[in-house]
Amino acid sequence: MEQVDTVVVGAGVAGLAAARLLAGAGARVVVLEARDRVGGRVWTDRTAGHATDLGASWIHGVDGSPVAAAARALGMRTMEFTVGGYQAHSRPVAYFSAAGTRMSAEDVSGFAADVAAVDAALADAVAASRPDDSYRDVTEAALAAQEWEPERAQRVRDYLEHRSEEQYGAWIEDLAAHGLDDDAIEGDEVVFPDGYDALPTSLARDLDIRLGHVVSRVVWSPSGVRVAWAGGEIAARTAVVTVPVGVLRSDALAFSPALPAPVACALSRLEMNAFEKVFLRFPRRFWDRDVYAIRQLGPEGRWWHSWYDLTGLHGTPTLLTFAAGPAARAIAGWDDARVAESVMAQLRRLYGPGIPAPDGVRVTSWGADPFARGSYAYMRVGSSTSDHDALATPIGGVLHLAGEATWTDDPATVPAAMLSGHRAAERILGRAVPIDSLWA
Ligand SMILES: Cc1cc2nc3c(=O)[nH]c(=O)nc-3n(C[C@H](O)[C@H](O)[C@H](O)COP(=O)(O)OP(=O)(O)OC[C@H]3O[C@@H](n4cnc5c(N)ncnc54)[C@H](O)[C@@H]3O)c2cc1C
Repeated sequence: MEQVDTVVVGAGVAGLAAARLLAGAGARVVVLEARDRVGGRVWTDRTAGHATDLGASWIHGVDGSPVAAAARALGMRTMEFTVGGYQAHSRPVAYFSAAGTRMSAEDVSGFAADVAAVDAALADAVAASRPDDSYRDVTEAALAAQEWEPERAQRVRDYLEHRSEEQYGAWIEDLAAHGLDDDAIEGDEVVFPDGYDALPTSLARDLDIRLGHVVSRVVWSPSGVRVAWAGGEIAARTAVVTVPVGVLRSDALAFSPALPAPVACALSRLEMNAFEKVFLRFPRRFWDRDVYAIRQLGPEGRWWHSWYDLTGLHGTPTLLTFAAGPAARAIAGWDDARVAESVMAQLRRLYGPGIPAPDGVRVTSWGADPFARGSYAYMRVGSSTSDHDALATPIGGVLHLAGEATWTDDPATVPAAMLSGHRAAERILGRAVPIDSLWA
């Protein structure tokens, strides 16, 4: 059987970061990847003639971000787009009222001020929450403290539901009270006109990556690790397993012996979400030119409430919206035309029956992807923020879990994935390694 120093399972950003740092330190490293490409949930499609990021697209705040530092060093072009955190009013947004009419600037600032007031009270409500409280419980406490009339409170309640769905792909009653603790954005947000995949492509350079290897079993003991796939097996002194929480929780990948209690318990409290992107390309732009996004309030916005204008990325009039939480579960199995029609019904309500039909539609299906099983993990009710780090507790001195869900500070992101891979490599090497050696 082939024997190496470290086997890395998964060639997403976490696995590639770990592999690159270990290989750079002189270790013999093999990366086993189920797909026929690297990048995992960073996936850029170019079939429409320009880059479309089907997975991650934003750096949610460039200040202090290792991904921003890598992007700068790699010369990746960025475009400022500070609306990725479901902010109420960080940048110009065309707001429509529940009746479908355009809100005045004054109304919009009133609404944004209401959201800010609830957010200010929310910090205390979250701090005072009990272990089994949901995000609904704490947001209701923060809303009640305002003593508003029902309609005013309902506008902000809707917003809070949508924030839970758009940020974590989870219905507000399923998300833990602390589930959005890491939502702060430091600095501008940016997206990549030429595609996010330049990052994993660069991290993968010169590594021994074996595509099409679906790992089904990891056997570990204090003396080493054996990793098996349908066609074979490889032995190593250590392993880094970076598959998403959805794969870890499925029976597609078995650990022998089973994952020990601290890791298994943390895993049982994290859950893969339901979150899909819907891209609509139009022959012409029919919406406002000077806004980053369009948003509608009220019951009509239950599913489709926010559209992000991607036209600046590549010049083609394009809106991006999300099916998140219950909406994503409901549309699973719909074809693209049916999804587009459902979205268009709302856009016609706001912009009139004469708007053009889209001439290009793309709907992602991360939920049905066997190597993702959702878009990213969220904290179920009953979990705590420390479950993320607990998931990465070293096992038997030989086995390390890494990936976005194993990083407490800003999980569910590309920086979390990169930092978790860096931590796994440092633990294996037993010493500090500068993270910037990833892009030096
Ligand atoms: C729709 C969407 C939007 C997002 N938006 C953003 C965003 O704007 N900004 C942001 O920072 N983050 C965003 N994210 C999250 C971000 O993409 C992830 O946090 C990050 O890419 C995860 O990296 P990872 O290495 O932990 O996991 P992955 O990228 O999933 O890598 C794990 C790898 O393991 C492989 N694998 C799975 N099972 C097996 C197996 N049995 N054997 C071998 N290999 C296996 C997978 O194919 C994959 O390549 C988004 C994700 C999605 C899906």
